[in-house]
Amino acid sequence: MRIGVIGAGVAGSLVVDALRKAPGVSVKGFERVARGGHEEAGTGLNVGPNAMKALRLHAPEAHDRLRAVSLPWESWFIDMVDGTRVFDIQLSQVAEEPGIRLAWAELYRQLRTPVNDHFAFQHTLVALEEDAAGRLVPVFKTGAGETVRDGGFDLLIAGDGRYSALRMATIGPLEVEFMGVGMWRLLVPDASDCPYQDYGQWFHRNNRLLSYRLPGGAAYIAGSFGLETPDGEILPEHRTAQYQRSLFDPDEGAPCAAVAWMQKQIEPLFDDIHWARLQVSPLEREAANGRVLFLGDSAHAMVPTLGQGATQAIEDGTIAGTILARGGSLADIGKARNERVSFVRQFSADASDTILPGTDAAEGSREKMGPAFMAKLRRLYTDVPGPDDLI
Ligand SMILES: Cc1cc2nc3c(=O)[nH]c(=O)nc-3n(C[C@H](O)[C@H](O)[C@H](O)COP(=O)(O)OP(=O)(O)OC[C@H]3O[C@@H](n4cnc5c(N)ncnc54)[C@H](O)[C@@H]3O)c2cc1C
Repeated sequence: MRIGVIGAGVAGSLVVDALRKAPGVSVKGFERVARGGHEEAGTGLNVGPNAMKALRLHAPEAHDRLRAVSLPWESWFIDMVDGTRVFDIQLSQVAEEPGIRLAWAELYRQLRTPVNDHFAFQHTLVALEEDAAGRLVPVFKTGAGETVRDGGFDLLIAGDGRYSALRMATIGPLEVEFMGVGMWRLLVPDASDCPYQDYGQWFHRNNRLLSYRLPGGAAYIAGSFGLETPDGEILPEHRTAQYQRSLFDPDEGAPCAAVAWMQKQIEPLFDDIHWARLQVSPLEREAANGRVLFLGDSAHAMVPTLGQGATQAIEDGTIAGTILARGGSLADIGKARNERVSFVRQFSADASDTILPGTDAAEGSREKMGPAFMAKLRRLYTDVPGPDDLI
């Protein structure tokens, strides 16, 4: 069986790693950027304990490499901007192992290392054709501007992210739902005077800062703020350092030391900020009569509230890889993944209540310490099948 994988991102790299030694499978990947290149390199991310469990069970070498280059994500607190604590847990209460905190570039580097030679880099998918045998023939534009084909594939796997060209070529544009929340992210390269370590969130009304330290003395900060309407744009007046700082001033008194430190970082790093709007799109697992499989963001871009984007791409890549390497079908992958992904998407959307304009962030955060939220968090972080639980 000849399998082509579009995108050497999180899911794409992992599925190629699982398939490169599978009997009866010939796998080849195609990636838009140059070898050693990456996108979003400037930011950091937190990967959930459930992704680490999926790696431990399905790709133990990748698990150990990522542990070695990251910081553990062990705790999660939520404060109001004056420092009042409203939520505080150790992840060991609800998970089998810590998550990780690391730079994007490092995540890509570690996942691509074993599969670099299985990818053609600077190959951007631009179109899709079919050969006489009914196999799909992807068409690429190379870095040199040439149009190239690499023959027909029995199965094409989309690992090309949120704006998937393979999904566009097979399903067309998706209905995107916006949630009335603007977001920004930045990396502080020198955070030696940062007054906190692990993952924290700080609220003023529904405006939220989220931050944690990264390896190499850096820190990651993400801000979110309400827009005027659910599908409202981020306006020029929102995109100023002064406006963003002011969103996190308490009504009375001074902000706590952590918030004051983050507010200080916004202005000097303002030009590096990455802006986005909170959005969801529907789950799509396959297309073209079972000849295309979607993994990661191409299948199920989700709200970032519980840090599950890359985390679910890791679950997808490892589990789909195990199933395909054993000769399993797309239906087997759907059975193993779709209900799980639907739960994660719904839980991530429900957990976003506190950043939606008009809700009570303090009360909503306190409620998350209750048994209902904690049980869902445990399910999120531990309900990951191992190879023996699959076909
Ligand atoms: C700034 C930022 C911060 C984030 N923080 C977190 C976080 O803390 N935790 C978390 O779990 N998630 C986070 N996410 C979400 C996470 O980035 C995604 O969910 C995750 O990267 C999806 O993985 P993927 O493998 O589906 O796609 P990606 O990792 O996006 O990889 C897609 C790959 O496909 C390639 N590609 C794209 N188009 C083509 C084409 N036409 N032809 C060939 N190749 C192509 C790209 O170059 C890329 O290498 C964050 C996202 C952003 C933007």
